[in-house]
Amino acid sequence: MTDRIREFLRNRRDDGPVLVVDLDVVRDNYNAFAKALPDSRVFYAVKANPAPEVLKLLGSLGSCFDTASVAEIEMVLAAGVTPDRISYGNTIKKERDIARAFEVGVRLFAVDCKAEVEKVARAAPGSKVFCRILCDGAGAEWPLSRKFGCEPSMAADVLEHAHRQGLEAYGVSFHVGSQQRNQHAWDRALAQAAAVFKECGERGINLSMVNLGGGFPTKYLKNVPTVRTYGSAIFKALRKHFGNRIPETIIEPGRGMVGNAGVIETEVVLVSKKSEEDEVRWVYLDIGKFGGLAETMDESIRYPIRTPRDGAETSPCILAGPTCDSADVLYEKQPYLLPVSIEIGDKLLIEGTGAYTATYSSVAFNGFPPLKTVHI
Ligand SMILES: *Cc1c(COP(=O)(O)O)cnc(C)c1O
Repeated sequence: MTDRIREFLRNRRDDGPVLVVDLDVVRDNYNAFAKALPDSRVFYAVKANPAPEVLKLLGSLGSCFDTASVAEIEMVLAAGVTPDRISYGNTIKKERDIARAFEVGVRLFAVDCKAEVEKVARAAPGSKVFCRILCDGAGAEWPLSRKFGCEPSMAADVLEHAHRQGLEAYGVSFHVGSQQRNQHAWDRALAQAAAVFKECGERGINLSMVNLGGGFPTKYLKNVPTVRTYGSAIFKALRKHFGNRIPETIIEPGRGMVGNAGVIETEVVLVSKKSEEDEVRWVYLDIGKFGGLAETMDESIRYPIRTPRDGAETSPCILAGPTCDSADVLYEKQPYLLPVSIEIGDKLLIEGTGAYTATYSSVAFNGFPPLKTVHI
C-alpha cells in the first residue's frame, strides 16, 4: 500500500472492485532488477500486466519485453518500443503468428522441439532462437509443470537442428517456477544450461545467451528474499557453472516487476454461517476467482488482506467471490483470519495484486464486468 493509492481510494466514488497500480513502485522494481543483475538485460513478461501505462513506463526505462502472442507484440509496439527489444518467448506458436511477428521486426524466438524450429526457420528465416529446457519448479508457489521446455539432454539436438536450418542457435532458457521463494533454484538450472553449452560447443555451435526466466517473487503473506539476494545467488551460480566465460544473460520478471505495485479494493457483500453452531463464517466479496483472483486456484497464492477493523479479535473465515459458480471460493481448506467485527459493506484491501489479476478476470460471468483497473 502506498500513500498515492490510499489517496486515490479516499477520493474514489465508483462502485465495484478496482485494481489500483502505483507506477512509482513499478519504476522502483525495474531499477532494483537493473541494479541487482547489472549485466542482464530485462525482458518484462508482458502477461503479468500488459496495461499501456506499464509498458510505456518500462519502455522508457530501457526495458525489453517478453511476449507470448501477436496481440502482446502489438501492445508493446504501440507503447513505442522497437521490435529489436521484443522476444516471442512462447514455445507454442502458430506458424502464421511467427510470420506476423517476423514481418513487424521480431527476430528472437523460443523453441523447445524440432517441429517448432522448423516453423521458425520457414516463417522467420535467419532469426535467433533459444531452446527452453525443463525445470522441476521445486520451491515455487506457482510451478509451471512440464508444459514448456524439453529435457536438457534433447536441447543440443534442437539447437543443432536450428543451426542446420539457417537459424542462429543463440542460447538456452528456463523458468524456475513462478513465485520462486528459493534464490538457489537457479543453480541447478544453470548447471544444465552449462551442459547444453558444452555439448553444442563440441558440435561446433557456440551459444551466447542464457535466459534466466522469471520467478522473482512478490511479498504476499510470507517474507521473500530481496532482489539483491537473488542477484548475488544467480551471479555465484553463473560463475560456478560457466567459470570466467559467463554468457550474455537476460531475465524475464513478471510478478516481481508489478505484483507489489497493485492493490484491489473490494467490498464485503455478505457475512453468514451455515448453521447456528458453525464456527467458521463465510465472507463473500464482490471479487472472486472470475473477477481476477484466479491465482487463488488450489489456494496457491495467499494475498494479504487489510480491513478497516485490523487489530480487533479475529476468527477463521471462508472467503468466496460473488458469482454463482461453486468453484468461486478463494480460501476454504485453509480459512482466512478476519476480524470478528467485520460487516457487510466493509471495504477490504487485497495487496500484492498488481500481477496476474486484471487479465485473468472474465468478460462478464454472471454479468460481472471485468476488473476495473487504474494506473496512477
Ligand atoms: C510468465 C513468464 C515469465 C514471468 O514469470 P514470473 O514468475 O511472473 O516472473 C517469464 N518468462 C516466461 C517465458 C513466462 O511465460
